[in-house]
Amino acid sequence: MGVFALLRDRFPCMKMERDVSLARRTTIGCGGRASCVVSPSDAEEAAELISFLKKERIPHAFLGAGANTLPPDGDYDAAIVSSDALRGIVYDGNALFAGAGVTGGSLVRYAMENSLGGVEPFVGIPMTVGGGCVMNAGVKEKHFSDLVLRVLAVRNGRIESFPVPACRFGEKRSIFQENLFVVGVLLRVERVSVGQLRKNCREYLARRRTLPKGRSMGCTFVNPEGVSAGELIDRAGLKGLAFGGARVSSIHANFIINEGGTSSDVSALIDIIKNEVLLKTGILLREEIRRLELQHT
Ligand SMILES: Cc1cc2nc3c(=O)[nH]c(=O)nc-3n(C[C@H](O)[C@H](O)[C@H](O)COP(=O)(O)OP(=O)(O)OC[C@H]3O[C@@H](n4cnc5c(N)ncnc54)[C@H](O)[C@@H]3O)c2cc1C
Repeated sequence: MGVFALLRDRFPCMKMERDVSLARRTTIGCGGRASCVVSPSDAEEAAELISFLKKERIPHAFLGAGANTLPPDGDYDAAIVSSDALRGIVYDGNALFAGAGVTGGSLVRYAMENSLGGVEPFVGIPMTVGGGCVMNAGVKEKHFSDLVLRVLAVRNGRIESFPVPACRFGEKRSIFQENLFVVGVLLRVERVSVGQLRKNCREYLARRRTLPKGRSMGCTFVNPEGVSAGELIDRAGLKGLAFGGARVSSIHANFIINEGGTSSDVSALIDIIKNEVLLKTGILLREEIRRLELQHT
């Protein structure tokens, strides 16, 4: 029995899609197909689903908005667990709880409607709350970890509540990258006038206007201590370099633009960049982007 039929049989009420193009689920726009995308609608459903996937050793991976993810080429009989149906968002007068599937846009809109400040740095970043938390997304001066009070996640099939130190946030890092599934996040917000919020958002959006257009995953590499990865790539003479249908942006060298290529093209270009930068500067770049790797346990 294939993965879709197996999951449909075990979870008849869960939201599921069959034979899904991963190119359409990611901002980079390449990659093959997965036989099943499954979207639990609350923490209990997510825990039950993940326990089942682990017990049956069904290949699986987690996905949010797909804005930092490079999926594999080829077709896979596997379950992609999406946060799509975890869209609840509520402010209790103290803190804001957002489900993992809430998009950055919806988060900022909700904050505006309720005069809540704190989330403005995320305006314009393509993301879900889950993906933002896993990646510790943000801008130079503010990261997701600066707002987090607690994270609700599934570890080994069990729902756990993580206080900030247990999240092990770092530069584009968190413990949730170790195959944990984020269900929702409790965020610190503060009362701010709508006028001030609008002004803050305008300022953050203005800074994003110069980013390259086209299909990408945003920054490909983490900035090494004290230097920008884009600058190192530029210095290595790689701006505009193409491999197959993937190209180093000539506007911002840390962006790879997919001009109709495959994931293998993107992957090969990443390897070329790493090798050349290491050769010319002695610095080994660490990938920020995440490869969609199927877990079996
Ligand atoms: C044009 C562009 C601009 C960008 N600008 C920025 C920027 O300014 N700052 C910045 O930090 N990033 C930026 N990015 C990168 C990206 O927006 C962030 O990394 C964002 O946090 C990704 O969220 P996502 O929901 O798309 O995650 P995805 O790409 O879906 O997933 C990222 C990783 O998290 C995992 N994951 C996703 N959801 C869950 C979950 N619920 N539980 C467990 N694991 C999960 C995935 O398996 C994957 O490993 C940019 C990307 C693009 C395309």
